[in-house]
Amino acid sequence: MAQHSTPEQASGPIGLICAIPEEIGHFGAHFAERTAETLAGFTFRAGALDGVETVVVEAGIGKVNAAVVATLLLERFGCRALVFSGVAGGLDPALGIGDVVIATTLIQHDYGSVFQGAVKVYQPGVPPMPQFAQEHGYRLEPELERRVRAVAAGVELPAMPAAATGGVVRMPHIGFGTVLTGDQYVNCEAMRARLHTGFQAKAVEMEGAAIAQVAERYGVPCLVVRSLSDLAGHDSHMDFYAFVEAAAAGAAELVRRLVRVV
Ligand code: SAH
Repeated sequence: MAQHSTPEQASGPIGLICAIPEEIGHFGAHFAERTAETLAGFTFRAGALDGVETVVVEAGIGKVNAAVVATLLLERFGCRALVFSGVAGGLDPALGIGDVVIATTLIQHDYGSVFQGAVKVYQPGVPPMPQFAQEHGYRLEPELERRVRAVAAGVELPAMPAAATGGVVRMPHIGFGTVLTGDQYVNCEAMRARLHTGFQAKAVEMEGAAIAQVAERYGVPCLVVRSLSDLAGHDSHMDFYAFVEAAAAGAAELVRRLVRVV
């Protein structure tokens, strides 16, 4: 794979990406902004997040938006790593709203071929033909994973609203696993079950693996942290609006601790 990192990259800032206002809003109080620059309609804010040099940007929804801002963060701002903070739909029935998944593998579940009525996933960019089938997904760097696990083990996130947990106060659980990305909001029980069993995945969202694809091309690390706003089934369109704010707050709180070790 072609790599394109520049010498400044090793010492550059962290590029912090969120998709929507509910996600980025939680960083404001902790971010000392120095400059703001708009490129391709996205506003890149450079400054210090709890003392760590960071460029923060709201990408909007979907893989192409995510890839554009990721590329600009690396190419124009010399970022040394990309971090995403936000929400996702839960796929693993063992998880509840507010639980956090740190992506150890990111897969674009909508890239591939449609064969006998089902999507067969290929690594993005690889011709979607059987002779090119290979391992797919983008893996969290093992050394970064080790540091992230050490920090995450000591973090306790605030309780979610009782409505999110079925009326019982439950502290959000922080876990690790596969996160899927596609240009589709999953609001369907059959698809939730298929994505969970097909990939042993814990969560689904719409940006993470696109950022990981860009990060891989530049040879920089990528960390995606997602708190569950919904469970991707038949209620996900309602749960999302009820819990997006509280879930995004949990992801942001964890990410603020993690940027120190990225
Ligand atoms: N309609 C909403 C946006 C929904 S898109 C609005 O008005 O703002 C959902 C966003 O949260 C995406 O950025 C995606 O990454 C994430 N997400 C949360 N739940 C999801 C789900 N069930 N399926 C896919 N993405 C989800």
